[in-house]
Amino acid sequence: MRWNTTDRRPNGFFIPLSSMLVYTDRAFKTLNFMPQSIRDFVAVTGIVDVHEHHIPEILLSREVNLLQLFQQSYAGWTQARPYTLPSETRDSDPMLVATGPTTWETLAPFLENSGSNSFVRNLVRTVTELYGDGEPAITRDTWKALDAAVREHHRQPDWCKEVLRRAGIERSITDPYTDPLLDARQALGDNYNSVMRINSFACSWHPESRDHNGNSARALLQRLGLKPTSFDDYLAALEKLVDGMASRHQVALKNALAYDRDVAFDEPDEKLARQAWGKTLPSHAGRKAFSDFVVDRLCRLAGERDLPMQMHLGTAIIRGSHPLKVAGLIERHPRTRFLLMHLAYPWSHDLLGMAFVYRNIWLDLTWSFLISPSHFKLALHEAIETLPDESRLMFGGDNWHVEETYGTMKLARQLISEVLEEKLAAGYFRHVDAQRLAAKILRENAIRFFKLQ
Ligand SMILES: [Zn+2]
Repeated sequence: MRWNTTDRRPNGFFIPLSSMLVYTDRAFKTLNFMPQSIRDFVAVTGIVDVHEHHIPEILLSREVNLLQLFQQSYAGWTQARPYTLPSETRDSDPMLVATGPTTWETLAPFLENSGSNSFVRNLVRTVTELYGDGEPAITRDTWKALDAAVREHHRQPDWCKEVLRRAGIERSITDPYTDPLLDARQALGDNYNSVMRINSFACSWHPESRDHNGNSARALLQRLGLKPTSFDDYLAALEKLVDGMASRHQVALKNALAYDRDVAFDEPDEKLARQAWGKTLPSHAGRKAFSDFVVDRLCRLAGERDLPMQMHLGTAIIRGSHPLKVAGLIERHPRTRFLLMHLAYPWSHDLLGMAFVYRNIWLDLTWSFLISPSHFKLALHEAIETLPDESRLMFGGDNWHVEETYGTMKLARQLISEVLEEKLAAGYFRHVDAQRLAAKILRENAIRFFKLQ
């Protein structure tokens, strides 16, 4: 796949679900369908996208301009990290504030100061492919026409769906962190499911406590008719919360606590956790014990119900997000299926070592290819070689706007193809092995892992 206008994907030509279930030499002969190259095969295979931040506030808005596409994307992270470190505070989430109209002066910081960054490159390629002549540059001469095209297309109610169709996405699992109880199927459409972010529940020692997204667990529980007045009540409410997930089309829990604290979820100290209950600001040890205890309890509930636990690792509050810090939690819950995210960038080697040792780990490659395509390629080579079986890899877009999702999926297809081509050129495995693995990474692993119908 090349980034030029002559190589647009044949829209609507993605391999349907029914013909994708078995990948053997015999199955391909039966289907009488043998794509010419692994690149072509990857280009036409549908994707089951396991991680997005598609939320109604953004996805259903009919007022979207070019500046928003940059600000509400990872390109936006080049200008300001949208989350705080323990030493910092913020008034609002910069990803979600109004941007105002597009001007060259507001675009230039992305395009000129941060023009070499991979997030920016991805978005420039995508915007110019979808709205321009494909020349991958946004300039003083072209930005106005591109901005007008973005605004005009988003006024059409079906434009977002169309972009996702062109990206070859069959279905998406979104993390709507502005509302952890969102029923994404109801809010966004039939091909959506959501995960339930657990951060606020792990920080709810006091009725006024909130997580880094501003979510209050007590307010969320109240929406479900649950008003816990004691620590034991609260634990019972958590169980009801998890039991209600299926009714909201939620297919996994999501631990993004790497943005609230370190990920060393130690053996829970129940006594200390109980002491934190009801306090406005418990000690650091008390807060840690409380969230350790809640995370441990939710991992246990997930394991008992065979619900996956998706977990952010790497970057975030970087002093505490190394993947080995969660090894204890993973060992304590051998029945819980953990989906560890982002190749724990930049600690991919360590994560792959863990995924070899602990057989209850699956890897969500999301974002790792967006932040560094070259790091990703090396890590994918290693993952293919070291993982104990082919079920372990899947990926998503991790984006707010569909344009970035489109570009991210195209980039993923390109990089996965390149790695598989390199593996074939080295004689590592056969063409049919590469195809079987590609289909698993793009869609089949996610379908089985999340038990999607
Ligand atoms: Zn994300």
